[in-house]
This record gives sequence, C-alpha cells and structure tokens, in this order.
Amino acid sequence: MLPGDNKYYLLNACLLGVRLLRYDLHTHSTASDGILSPENLVSRAKDHGIDKLAITDHDTVAGIAPALCAASVQKIDVIAGIEFSTCWKGRTIHVVGLNIDHNHTAIVSAVKRQTAARHERAVRIDQRLQKLGIQGALASALALAGDSVIGRPHFAQFLVQAGYVKTVNAAFKQYLGAGKAGDIKQVWPELDEVVAWICAAGGVAVLAHPGKYKLTRTKLCRLTEAFKDHGGKALEVISGRQDARVTQGLGEVAAQFGLYASCGSDFHIPDQPWQELGAFGTLPPSCIPVWDLWS
Ligand code: AMP
Ligand code: MN
Ligand code: MN
Ligand code: MN
Repeated sequence: MLPGDNKYYLLNACLLGVRLLRYDLHTHSTASDGILSPENLVSRAKDHGIDKLAITDHDTVAGIAPALCAASVQKIDVIAGIEFSTCWKGRTIHVVGLNIDHNHTAIVSAVKRQTAARHERAVRIDQRLQKLGIQGALASALALAGDSVIGRPHFAQFLVQAGYVKTVNAAFKQYLGAGKAGDIKQVWPELDEVVAWICAAGGVAVLAHPGKYKLTRTKLCRLTEAFKDHGGKALEVISGRQDARVTQGLGEVAAQFGLYASCGSDFHIPDQPWQELGAFGTLPPSCIPVWDLWS
C-alpha cells in the first residue's frame, strides 16, 4: 500500500476518525443543459454535503464566475471545469477538464470555437428534422436555450412541447440519439485538440463517463490509450449511480493505463436518484483519486 493509494487514504482516515472530503467533479448548470443556476447549484451541493464541487458545463465556462461568487459566501470549494465534446473515430466522446484557468486564452478561444460548432450543428439538426416534416425546430430550440449554449436537450424539449413525442427520452430515442437524424458529430474537434486546450489552461483532462459509449472492452482500451497518449490524466471511474461491476471494471482500466480516477454525478436536474449531487459510491481502493494531483 502506497501513500498515493486510495486504500492508504481510507485507512488513515478511519484510524484518525477524519471525515473524508466529499467530491462531485461533474455537474451542469443553466450555462448549458442543467436546470439550476450556478448559484442554486452551489447551494444544493452545500445542502447535499459536498465539500468540493466541479462545475463542468458543456463547452462553456459561463457558470464558473457566478458559482465562485456564490461559493465564497458558503463553505464550499468550487473547482472550475468544462465538459468538451469531441469526435474520436466517428463517435462523440466527452472530455472533462478540471481545475482549469477558465480565463486562459486557450479556453476562451475553445469556447468560441465550440459555440460556433454548436450553432452549425443546430442548423443541420433543423434541416434534418425539416426533411422529416418537422418545422420550426431551430427557432424554438434557440428560444428555449436563451443564454445557455444550445444543445440537443433544447431540441428534445421542443419535440415534446410540439407534441411529436411524449418525453425527452423518447425524443432522443426517435430523433436525436446515436444513429438518428439529429446525431451530427462531424462538427466536433479531434480528441488531441480538446486535451491540449485543457492542458494549456493548467487543467486535468478526464475521460468522461467511459461506460456510456457502449464500447467493447477492446475499443474502450484503444480510446483510453489514445486519450493518455494525447496527455489525458484521469478516467471517470464513477458517473452517477452505477452498477458496482461497472465501477470495478473502470477502476481496472484506470489502473491498467496508469490513470487517476475521477467521480461525479453528472447532475442536470434535481431529484433524479441516478444523477443526484454526491449520490454515488466510493472509488475502488486500488484507484488513485484525481484530487491527489492538487494536494
Ligand atoms: P449535446 O451536448 O447537445 O450533444 O447533448 C447531450 C446531452 O443530452 C447529454 O449531456 C445529456 O444531458 C442529454 N441526453 C443525452 N441522451 C439523453 C436521453 N436519452 N434522455 C435525456 N437526455 C439525454
Ligand atoms: Mn448534458
Ligand atoms: Mn457527457
Ligand atoms: Mn455531463
């Protein structure tokens, strides 16, 4: 057992009777597709006993400054983060950047680039939906997004409100999810580019929710290897409430590639038990937590 091990840390904490700090390193606010404002997200995290909260909105850092202000009056640390969309071998992959300098020129220009990509994608989603006889999707999705970066959830909301489907989930299943009309990923930058943005801004690149890409173990290992080769440092071993076998398997992949382990709820909406703030298991003892890089 080495001082860097989670096992060593847990044992010491038990022996000393120290309360372990609670981390949630993947959350969304109204800056992207979350329901809570950055200020309300910080308050809810505080109420849920979180000590260290990373705000990782999709392709934007607009929520960081207001969250830092709110955090300074409450006893909670906000970690500046972002969740970039990227394309690897024809698949959309998400990479979280943690502990970034959100004002760094690399992030400012990356956000500009991603905002333009999201707009271009929205126009193309609208064209595809028009071909299916659905009119007015772009104008409605833009209106629903307001000041937030536009995303597929806004199109999903429109499809529900206009009566094309009953639920947001059905909108993804029928129109927006993998392989459907609204699944356009050619606008995203390559994996090496997004990892480089995060590294340039002094952050740690984390391969987000690796279990959600429906990859075989071989493909997941290929992705992880490419990610590490580009400068990626951590694997999100825990994403919300997940099966213990998934956690175990991802912990093994992290160890195999010498990556640190991250954990987060991927919180978007209150009261969804599988995505509630801080509501997830602990990292396997063999994992080295990503926050060791900051202490
Ligand atoms: P985008 O970033 O615009 O590509 O949209 C992806 C986001 O859509 C994810 O981060 C989720 O928040 C949401 N999402 C993806 N699949 C579903 C689904 N089946 N039901 C509800 N929301 C989903
Ligand atoms: Mn989302
Ligand atoms: Mn994601
Ligand atoms: Mn996310």
